[in-house]
Amino acid sequence: MRISRVDVFHCDAGWRPWTFVKVETDEGLVGWGECSDSRNPLGVAGCVRDFTPLLLGEDPRNVQRLYWDMLRTARQNLGGVSHKAIAGIELALWDITAKALSVPVYQLFGGPLRDRMRLYWSHCGTTRARHGKALGLPPLQTYDDIVNLGREVVSRGFTALKTNIVIPGEPATTYFPGFAQGAGSTDGVVTDEILDRIDQLIAAFAQGVGASVQVALDLNYNFRPEGAVKIGRLLERYNMQWIEFDTWDPQALVQIKQSIPQSLASCESLVSTRQYRPFLELRAADTVIIDVPWNGFGQAYAIGQMADAYELTVAPHNYYSHLADLHSIHLCAVLPNVRIMEIDIDDVPWKSHLVTCPPVIENGSIQLPTGPGWGADINEDVLSEHAWQAATVLAGY
Ligand SMILES: [Mg+2]
Repeated sequence: MRISRVDVFHCDAGWRPWTFVKVETDEGLVGWGECSDSRNPLGVAGCVRDFTPLLLGEDPRNVQRLYWDMLRTARQNLGGVSHKAIAGIELALWDITAKALSVPVYQLFGGPLRDRMRLYWSHCGTTRARHGKALGLPPLQTYDDIVNLGREVVSRGFTALKTNIVIPGEPATTYFPGFAQGAGSTDGVVTDEILDRIDQLIAAFAQGVGASVQVALDLNYNFRPEGAVKIGRLLERYNMQWIEFDTWDPQALVQIKQSIPQSLASCESLVSTRQYRPFLELRAADTVIIDVPWNGFGQAYAIGQMADAYELTVAPHNYYSHLADLHSIHLCAVLPNVRIMEIDIDDVPWKSHLVTCPPVIENGSIQLPTGPGWGADINEDVLSEHAWQAATVLAGY
C-alpha cells in the first residue's frame, strides 16, 4: 500500500476554521487527521504541503518512520505550526493503519483501559458571550443567566464545566487581554474590578450547578503568575475542578501551584515530549493538558505515559470538531492516568453532520467508538458546504 495523495481542508466552523488532513492510498483506503489551529491555519496547511513530497509513494503504515522523517526535516522549527502539520498527517496515518487491520486505533496501542470518559463542558458561557446570538443561544445579560446556565449544564447530564472570564451584559463580553491587541494587552495586571467580576462569575456558576459539580476557570495567558495566585486565593471557598493557566515557564507554574488552594492545570500549548519534560520533572501542574491534534497520537501517548511516571494526571485539550473528540477519547482509552476530557457543547448546529459517525455523548461522558480507525470519517459533502474563506478569520480562544 502506498500513499497516493495528501490534501488539507479548512472548514468554516462559525468563528474559527477546523483543519483536516486527508491521506489517500493506491488501495483506496483513506485516513483523516485533525490539526485545527485558529491562529495560523494557513501556516499549518502550508506545512502539510511542504511535507507531502516526503510522503507520496511511501507505505502509510510505517507511521513511526514517517513521523520521525517529518520531524527531522522540520526540527529546526520544533513546535508551532510545523509540529501541528506533522500531527495532522500522523493522525491520518494511524487511521489508515488501523483501518487496514479493521481495528480501532486504540487497539494498536494495546487495547482500551476504559469504554467511556467523563467530560467537562468547556468554554461554558464563553461561547454564548461571544457567539450566542449567531448560534441562537440564550443571552447572558445578568449573573442570574449564569446561574441558569449552570442549571442547564447539570440538567443535560454534565458533572463538570469550565469557563473563562465571562462578564454578563447587553451584550455579554469576555475578558481576554492576552489575546487582544494594542497598548496594555500584554501587561497581565489583575485589577480589583476584574477580581470582583471573577468572584461573581464563579459564585453564579457554583449556585447554578450545586455543591457536587466542580467548576474550572481557565485564565489562559491573561495574567502574570502574581495575578493567577490572587485569583486562586480569591476563589478558595468554591469547589473547583482546577485553575488553568498558560505559560512557557515551568518555574512560574511551580510558584502558582505552591501558592493556590486549588489544583492547577496547564501545558496545553506544549508539543513533543521534549517540551513537556521540564514541566514534568518539576511537577509544575497537577493535571497536564495534552492536545492530540497538535502533538499527534504517538507523542500524546508518550507524554501521557511520562506524566503517569511522575504521578500526574492528564486531560486532553479538545475544543474542535468531533474528529478531534475521537482522537482524544482514543487517547483516554489507552492511558491509565486521565482526570477528565474537555469538549465544547455550544457549537455550530451541523457539527455532528461533519463526521460519518458522531461520538455518543450521554450522562456527561463520551463513549469509546468501536469502528475501525478513529471510528468516523469526515463527510466531504458537509465539509464542502462549509468551506472556509481565509478572509473570515480569526477568533480563537
Ligand atoms: Mg486552556
